[in-house]
Amino acid sequence: MSASFPPLRDELRGIEPYGAPQMAHDRVPVQLNVNENPYAPSAELAASLANAVSTVALELNRYPDREFVALREQLAGYLNASGGSDITPDMVWAANGSNEVMQQLLQAFGGPGRLALSFAPTYSMYPEYARNTLTEWAVGHREEDFGLDLDRARALVEERRPSIVLLPSPNNPTGTALPPEAVSVLCEAVGDDGLLVVDEAYGEFRRTGTPSALELLPRHRNLVVTRTMSKAFALAGARLGYLAADPAICDALRIVRLPYHLSATTQATASVALSYVDELLAHVDDLRVERDATVSWLRGQGLDVADSDANFVLFGRFADRHAVWQGLVDRGVLIRETGPAGWLRVSIGTADEMTSFRTALTETMESRQERMEEQR
Ligand SMILES: *Cc1c(COP(=O)(O)O)cnc(C)c1O
Repeated sequence: MSASFPPLRDELRGIEPYGAPQMAHDRVPVQLNVNENPYAPSAELAASLANAVSTVALELNRYPDREFVALREQLAGYLNASGGSDITPDMVWAANGSNEVMQQLLQAFGGPGRLALSFAPTYSMYPEYARNTLTEWAVGHREEDFGLDLDRARALVEERRPSIVLLPSPNNPTGTALPPEAVSVLCEAVGDDGLLVVDEAYGEFRRTGTPSALELLPRHRNLVVTRTMSKAFALAGARLGYLAADPAICDALRIVRLPYHLSATTQATASVALSYVDELLAHVDDLRVERDATVSWLRGQGLDVADSDANFVLFGRFADRHAVWQGLVDRGVLIRETGPAGWLRVSIGTADEMTSFRTALTETMESRQERMEEQR
């Protein structure tokens, strides 16, 4: 027997599965760590979902619509009302979460001998899709304010010739949205040899006046804009992510997708959710207000805070961020230890949850201050 059973790929040996620490709600009741939407579906929406699922249940002996035609039509309609224009159903693709969409993009457009590029700090899942698809991975760097220096970014693209550039906007974990010039400059630098993927998982939370990259689709055929129902739509549990792009890009994804990858229940759930879009997105405005208030409050505490167009805020900087994170956990508030050294990320919850967060952070900072004074 070999010492290394099971016979895993060498580069996967010893790797921990990705995931934020999950803690029981009874131990840590205020959970502000994975950018979920705190507002659960209403009883009326839940009843409609149950109804739709029980209708498709009568046909679950059959495979679902492989082309999810009805859903693509609804998604195109939604995108045209959410920053896009002239988006047709053949420009829409969907999968089980935008994480699956992203992995399919790497399967089709990455692979051995090809390079995927992002700019750090960036979403921590991207290097994992690159690894899974045997795509080489490289990162450039964002500036001090977490924006991009376009000359440096363009130079890096021209030097490395990536097949895929992955850019979250608003960025996770910093909350930074990219200006449209950045998207255009990078699309042109990448050219027809590659794709620029703008990950707008948090697009609906962007501040007034911040445009969506959807507006640029008619001008750049190598631009892909991804969205998800996990954040603004408050449907993380349903697993539905999607993109808008040139129809030829969607066709390429049909080659790598698994057969019938979107289940009949997923299609029905997403379809009902889209018919409740006004109700679901009503809370987005509450969260944006709460986000702006959180940014101001944190700045008022003398902390560094990144501008945010998302439903979370990155703040710091702490000499021992783990101790601050732990201080919050001890007071029943779970946030995320992520981003550059010294920074922490808090997702925006309900007004009550944010009050708990502010109280816990104030107490933690005060008690750490006292301890520092005792040591003197
Ligand atoms: C949360 C998030 C997603 C969404 O992932 P799903 O698979 O759709 O739940 C995508 N990209 C980024 C940057 C995210 O933070």
